Amino acid sequence: MNVLEVVNLVKHFGAVRAVDGVSLTVSAGEVLGLVGESGSGKTTLGRCVTRLVPVTSGQIKMNSVDIAGLSRRRLRPLRRHFNIVFQDPSSSLNPRMPVADIIAEPLRLHRIGTTAERRERVRSLLDQVGLQPEVARRYPHELSGGQRQRVSVARALSASPSLLVADEPTSALDVSVQASVLNLIGRLQADLRFACLFITHDLAAVEFLAQRVAVMYLGVIVETASREELFTTPRHPYTQALLSAAPIPDPPAQRARSRIVLAGEVPSPVNPPSGCRFHTRCPVAIPLCSKEVPRLRMVGPSLATVACHLVAEDGTGPRLI
Ligand code: SF4
Repeated sequence: MNVLEVVNLVKHFGAVRAVDGVSLTVSAGEVLGLVGESGSGKTTLGRCVTRLVPVTSGQIKMNSVDIAGLSRRRLRPLRRHFNIVFQDPSSSLNPRMPVADIIAEPLRLHRIGTTAERRERVRSLLDQVGLQPEVARRYPHELSGGQRQRVSVARALSASPSLLVADEPTSALDVSVQASVLNLIGRLQADLRFACLFITHDLAAVEFLAQRVAVMYLGVIVETASREELFTTPRHPYTQALLSAAPIPDPPAQRARSRIVLAGEVPSPVNPPSGCRFHTRCPVAIPLCSKEVPRLRMVGPSLATVACHLVAEDGTGPRLI
């Protein structure tokens, strides 16, 4: 069952076409990794899905209810079903609230439980995210970055949402604590089985956490596949370039691997390239690529989808790495 179904979502900020017709699904108990460089539109997509910004057009079906066009008043009671963890916990936690109140806030807003039940829920959430009970009385500035992000995770999960959007949840943290926060999200997701849209530029994090992956470039999705398939048989030239640039922990393998250097910068989303948006940087582009938009279509024997003119129906295509 799909917890989230996004259909042809568009978000323009004036002339900037940040998200330009994205469709995706996340099913119950699934982690979908959404990867792309900065400027790909992935963070905007996460903000649209959680209705933190208004949507230009398209549908966002949350447990089959389209929330894309709902007024704030009609949206309010539905907000308990989804929540978001932001990149930087220092700016997303209210500095004047003690941790207990921060975590209990969604429960208060949605009138869930009595005061005593909320206190008990805060205690149990602190335990689930690996924090001591006395942290409840502390303020965000008294905690480390990793502890603050654990508090953000506890708050996001306190009303037991069916979807968690995690937007680069570890990239503002010290490298030394990134893995432990990632582990925590993975463990909680396995225990509680919420659906998760995990937004990141970090392929290693996606490989660790996601069961399925969607790759975004300049406001559109160019490839989706299971984690195994994406990492072993990346089909879209952009996905192959991303993988070739990602560091691998084995230096000899790193040296032996061919690396695709993409020409130029990510083009401006104000005036994206015609046809395939990747054609200005694609090492294997053909004349058709600048003329015709490649449709995202199913290829190969599995449920993978790719938007590239050169990938055949059986999933074969250009191999760059
Ligand atoms: Fe490259 Fe053309 Fe495929 Fe786009 S459609 S990725 S430009 S080969």
